Amino acid sequence: MFTPLHLDPESRPAPTFVSGPAKQLLVGGAWVPAGSGATLDTVDPTTQQTITAIASADASDVDRAVAAAHQAFEEPAWSDISPYKRSMMLLQIADAIEGAADELATLESLEMGGTPGLTKWMIHHSVEVFRHYAGWPTKIYGQTAPSEPNQFTYTLRQPLGVVAAITAWNGPLLQLAWKVAPALATGNTVVVKPAQQTSLSAIRFGELLEATDLPPGVVNIVTGFGSVVGEALIQHPDVNKVSFTGSTAVGKHLLEASAGNLKRVTLELGGKSPSIVFADADLAAAAKTVAAGFLAGTGQGCVAGSRIFVEASVRSEFSALLAEEMRAYTVGDPFHPDTVMGPLASKQHYDRVTSYFDIARDAGATITLGGPQDGDNGLFVAPTLIENVTNDMRVAQEEIFGPIAVLMPFTDLDEVVRLSNDSIYGLAASVWTKDLSRAHRAASKLEAGTVWINTWGDMSAGIVPFGGFKQSGIGREHGTDVIDAFTETKTVIVNL
Ligand code: NAP
Ligand code: MG
Repeated sequence: MFTPLHLDPESRPAPTFVSGPAKQLLVGGAWVPAGSGATLDTVDPTTQQTITAIASADASDVDRAVAAAHQAFEEPAWSDISPYKRSMMLLQIADAIEGAADELATLESLEMGGTPGLTKWMIHHSVEVFRHYAGWPTKIYGQTAPSEPNQFTYTLRQPLGVVAAITAWNGPLLQLAWKVAPALATGNTVVVKPAQQTSLSAIRFGELLEATDLPPGVVNIVTGFGSVVGEALIQHPDVNKVSFTGSTAVGKHLLEASAGNLKRVTLELGGKSPSIVFADADLAAAAKTVAAGFLAGTGQGCVAGSRIFVEASVRSEFSALLAEEMRAYTVGDPFHPDTVMGPLASKQHYDRVTSYFDIARDAGATITLGGPQDGDNGLFVAPTLIENVTNDMRVAQEEIFGPIAVLMPFTDLDEVVRLSNDSIYGLAASVWTKDLSRAHRAASKLEAGTVWINTWGDMSAGIVPFGGFKQSGIGREHGTDVIDAFTETKTVIVNL
């Protein structure tokens, strides 16, 4: 039996930010309603009650925001400022987020159902990201090239122009930070399109910018539906780059739609990442982190380690340890002090995730823990393990994006690498073993943008590259790669 923890409505936070009229769009430094006057409701997945209304923009609002970003890009207040001053502005943004961290985390917990522990971590990470990128403006070098004796040749790294930053709902401000911070560090201007389910922290972020020296129009925020606002951005002839986090399906469409003016595109897409446990691993430590790997954020993480491979000789021992860890994920209202795992983020998503219970059983797999529960449990799903699975089943191949993992046995390194790589995705992998040579051999052969050895989920706030092989994406965020992705190289040849 499964009874999610509930809180009475009076004990739940009610930030003043969500009271009052519908939230507006940030265009050229001013807050404006959608031109059509349309709004949409943002819903708390825990209670399924409306939190507040936000502007629902259309293509004409996108035109205004892109024009504002374009104008800001040309203005000397942004284009001609010194690298040092640009660094200072990024530090001011980090301070502004830090000063409002608890409020921002509460807004995200209300909108996406994540526990305050999770959302506070994500806001803190966003602060670190802005501080990391504040170091870049003073360190972006061109090169001096070998030249003919009568010539002097050098390269410049220059901003692209207007960047569209489109984010998913599972890491609202964090994904914004991953895009906006490097875009600003390299001198671009931005139009942000947050996921409509979780736009509040982005809107509040826009308000916080008023306390910084950032010129108006450098960051614009346009809320609304992806099929309208997102679509207008990816088609827009004055948008020079799209930095996108979301599903592989929308990512593929974006690649085609952005071809009109050959936009630069960075895609951070889905995954179905393997967690590989060898018999010699510290099985208790592995079970704890492998459970977190598919239950953190209610399994709604792009790097979720939702395909668990266990060496056959320790399968039953490991399954028992994993089950014990899974039982510790108390499900309920994210604001309840005993809750470890909140609800899924929306009704539509809940219906999709829970449809995999039948998909699993129809294929002949067995749900050994969790699964469908009696009664109306709102959008809550119990931690679920599926066994008797083969790697070709839909539950082993498709990204479920909920607290559900499949467990499959393997016998040796070659087999588990082959099974792991037999996927359209290649975002991440974790390997659990005390044999370091085997760990490094696996790391080298796995088709994944990030490989964790005896850990899972560690994220740098900007230092190391992040992104996917195969259909998990194109390009990398962070590292030194990201600077290339937000700039053009210009070659200058001077006749002396
Ligand atoms: P999604 O449906 O692809 O949406 C992502 C964003 O794209 C949202 O802002 C959405 O707007 C917008 N969008 C929808 N249709 C669009 C269109 N035609 N043109 C332009 N934009 C459009 O993904 P999701 O369901 O929100 O997020 C879950 C997915 O994100 C999962 O696949 C997950 O793996 C992936 N993800 C990847 C990473 C990574 O770094 N690799 C990180 C987190 C999540 P609306 O939702 O507002 O309509
Ligand atoms: Mg969606």
